[in-house]
Amino acid sequence: MNLPWLEEPQRRLEQTLQANRLGHAPLICGPAGLGKLELARWLLARILCLSPAGEAPCGQCRSCELLASGSHPDSFRLAIPEDKKEIPVDDVRGMIASLQLTPRVGPNRVGLIEPAEAMNRNAANALLKTLEEPAEKAWLILVSHQPGRLPATIRSRCQKIVIRPPHADQASAWLVDRHPSIEGADLDRVLTLAAGAPLAASALLAGDGLDHGRQILEGLLAVAAGGSASAVADDSWHASPELTWHWLSVWMAAIMRHAQGLPDSALPATFKLPAELEPQSLARLWEQSLAGRRMSTMAVRHDLLIGKWLLEWARCFSPGT
Ligand SMILES: [Zn+2]
Repeated sequence: MNLPWLEEPQRRLEQTLQANRLGHAPLICGPAGLGKLELARWLLARILCLSPAGEAPCGQCRSCELLASGSHPDSFRLAIPEDKKEIPVDDVRGMIASLQLTPRVGPNRVGLIEPAEAMNRNAANALLKTLEEPAEKAWLILVSHQPGRLPATIRSRCQKIVIRPPHADQASAWLVDRHPSIEGADLDRVLTLAAGAPLAASALLAGDGLDHGRQILEGLLAVAAGGSASAVADDSWHASPELTWHWLSVWMAAIMRHAQGLPDSALPATFKLPAELEPQSLARLWEQSLAGRRMSTMAVRHDLLIGKWLLEWARCFSPGT
């Protein structure tokens, strides 16, 4: 995986596996951008591998080969469908049915749900029955960035594996290795923006990185001060909708922290909005930016969606328009 902060949790999981103490529903949770999905994929491969070598899936058995080619018949994966905002109940029912089939390759079957908090209420209820009466030799790995949004009944039936952000030194070293030209002040800034999560920080450095992010923040301030949304969102905003949505979500999260008076804000020291915003408005804009990012590979008019988002942002400062 080459994510050094995951080595310790991986070792502990391996020991749990070897002692036959891994529950049938591990819940890997922690902030986004730490590589939880990587760890979950490793665990899935490790459970399915026919001849695991120490901590690693062997990479050579039929199971490992099928996984590598993406066609393992005993491995099931659920995520938010591209055209939806949540994981629908039918998808969960489909996975549960698959987990009850006779395994085709080895003795085990594994399902993976990420992000688990995206299951709607019906989907979570459907899953609950399976968690109460698990099929034999079937594992269900849940990955969650916000386990608090999962029903308590689900959480209590899972074996919680909490992943925490690494020490700042380890995060910095990893980041410098991947982005050798980054300067010290920017390194601190981007780690703060990403709340210490190295993969999230690395994603912020994609494209024009921090320059693009600064430009978007300036645009937000200009619109808040009464500037025209269509003039602010120029071609650079539309060149990579994914990055733009990502930065919008990062700034909304930072502005929410700022509004609560939290000290870890990564905003410039002089940052000030022309009006105080309702927490609900900020949260809604933040949710919409996350949804925009999820849709970033879809063939939709992101220029229109981003324009609409900016108009809503503008309305926060001049209600009634
Ligand atoms: Zn193997």
